[in-house]
Amino acid sequence: MAPTIVIVGAGVSGLTSALLLSKSIKGCDLTIVAKHMPGDYDIEYASPWAGANFEPMSSREGSRWERRTWPELKRLTEEVPEAGIHFQKSRVYRRNKDMEAEGQLGLFALDPWFKDLFDDYRELNNDELLPGTDSGCGFTSVCINTAIYLPWLLGQCRKAGVVFKRGVLRNIREAKTLSHTGRPADIIINTTGLGARKLGGVEDTAMAPIRAQIVLVRNELPTMLSVSGTEDEPADLIYTMQRAAGGGTILGGTYDMNNWESAPDPNIALRIMRRVVEARPDIANGKGVAGLDVIRHGVGLRPYRHGGVRIEDEKLDESTWIVHNYGHAGWGYQGSYGCAEQVVELVDKIRAQVKSKL
Ligand code: FAD
Repeated sequence: MAPTIVIVGAGVSGLTSALLLSKSIKGCDLTIVAKHMPGDYDIEYASPWAGANFEPMSSREGSRWERRTWPELKRLTEEVPEAGIHFQKSRVYRRNKDMEAEGQLGLFALDPWFKDLFDDYRELNNDELLPGTDSGCGFTSVCINTAIYLPWLLGQCRKAGVVFKRGVLRNIREAKTLSHTGRPADIIINTTGLGARKLGGVEDTAMAPIRAQIVLVRNELPTMLSVSGTEDEPADLIYTMQRAAGGGTILGGTYDMNNWESAPDPNIALRIMRRVVEARPDIANGKGVAGLDVIRHGVGLRPYRHGGVRIEDEKLDESTWIVHNYGHAGWGYQGSYGCAEQVVELVDKIRAQVKSKL
């Protein structure tokens, strides 16, 4: 018999988990219950705010999820234009002074694991570097227009028979009674992101926000750009990415740990825009900040988890299991398929343990 599954959360983690489960388990009943759905913009819902691009952040040892996600994002870009993803050249710039700081591995590593992932990875020549940077690399990656991609994922899930319901859970246990079939859930998938900090029965105090302020502009900059550091505040970043299909260009940003503030700060916004026009004056035809045409200012909270993402199974009671998939910080899209694959593996493991039932 196929299991009855309830997924809590409709961000990129919940939607991708639902999609892969629907493909992998024939005849299973899948319900997604969430406070926020594609189309909503809210500080408690990280997914719509993301750029989102694929710029690997993991170490070589932790690269499983990004490695497994890249082929599917590449396939969707090549074969499924309605998913709202396009290829974009990426330029990553390193400053030696940032390389000494802890944590400056991942995207800015000098000998990154992902040089074998992209067909055209290369180190940049000195005459290609931005002023103030010491080295860099280039490769062709993708940028996802999340305003198109999230509804597309939702549509793919509906096509596969997944049923969507609004609901706000106070305790993860409530999901047991929320399947559209009326049957008790055998397996609950917890993809509540930062919500896992407050949700009863989970209350994961390792979860923390990393505030991300961005500016979305109509101006175009066909090359994505990331620099390892800035001369401004410690939480300030510089990155850009142009979303597919007229989605505008995201200018970033900040990486501000433990800051819950949802309102955009005008001073930060000005610093973001100034840094971008200084690095790439062509984005505003040389007119500086005044040449930027702002669509909106935004703030999202990256769902960070001290100790790393939580993807594991847990027994709730004699007949119910939970599979957790939350805490993806700033890489929820670029790890989405790899993480959802692991959710499927854990569900398979649970089914194997109770073969007679599910
Ligand atoms: P969320 O999108 O936050 O979804 C959580 C879901 O759980 C929501 O539906 C919510 O309503 C629901 N929920 C929570 N609690 C409850 C409850 N009690 N009851 C019912 N429902 C509940 N990632 C990349 O890969 N590439 C990028 O370029 C990138 N750029 C980013 C830029 C910004 C500005 C930000 C903010 C993030 C960026 N990220 C990027 C990170 C990415 O957005 C997140 O990792 C990802 O969206 C997390 O998705 P999620 O589904 O786990 O959580």
